[in-house]
Amino acid sequence: MKRLIFASNNKHKLVEVRAALEGIAKVVSLAEAGLEGEIPETADTLQGNALQKAQWVWERTHIDCFADDTGLEVDALNGAPGVYSARYAGEHCSFDDNINKLLAALDGESNRKADFRTVICLIEKGEVHYFEGRVDGQILTERHTNGEGFGYDPIFMPDRFAVSFAEMPLDVKNSISHRGRAVEKLAAYLKQLP
Ligand code: IMP
Repeated sequence: MKRLIFASNNKHKLVEVRAALEGIAKVVSLAEAGLEGEIPETADTLQGNALQKAQWVWERTHIDCFADDTGLEVDALNGAPGVYSARYAGEHCSFDDNINKLLAALDGESNRKADFRTVICLIEKGEVHYFEGRVDGQILTERHTNGEGFGYDPIFMPDRFAVSFAEMPLDVKNSISHRGRAVEKLAAYLKQLP
């Protein structure tokens, strides 16, 4: 089976990606590939960061690999925090800090529209391919959670649902989420390769 290095050590993402690529590719984490060190993420677009991370792996291994980058894009904030979602409230801030900052920024705002977008960059035989997944929804005015999920999940309610991402079983979230959709497209592409 095809072996692919995923430019991540995030356990949550590895489980999700391995499930989606089961029977299609063997997904190897950075640690399992023996790669150490901080991968730079200094681009100002999701696509740029995903490329930067995948290239970092490719240059060191010349093994087919992929990387992902995700942003929460809020309509009323002209797409912010976007590519800066992880560091919205500052370097080394917590998920809670980010949520507090976003709720404050949208205080009194009636346009709560937002989307999550994930870009995956695959480098296959040295060639670069991109896959994008997106989910539209609303930013809630307060946290709704029963302990599921991470990041902005407690304040994001996807369209056609009456609960936040943090109130959904993980398999339901994965079946409609930005990352889930991007990984589905990656899986479909890999499946049709000779
Ligand atoms: P990353 O590119 O996957 O590291 O995501 C950047 C930031 O977006 C993370 O630090 C999270 O705050 C947020 N994020 C990414 N995916 C999700 C998700 O599925 N739910 C909630 N927040 C997320």
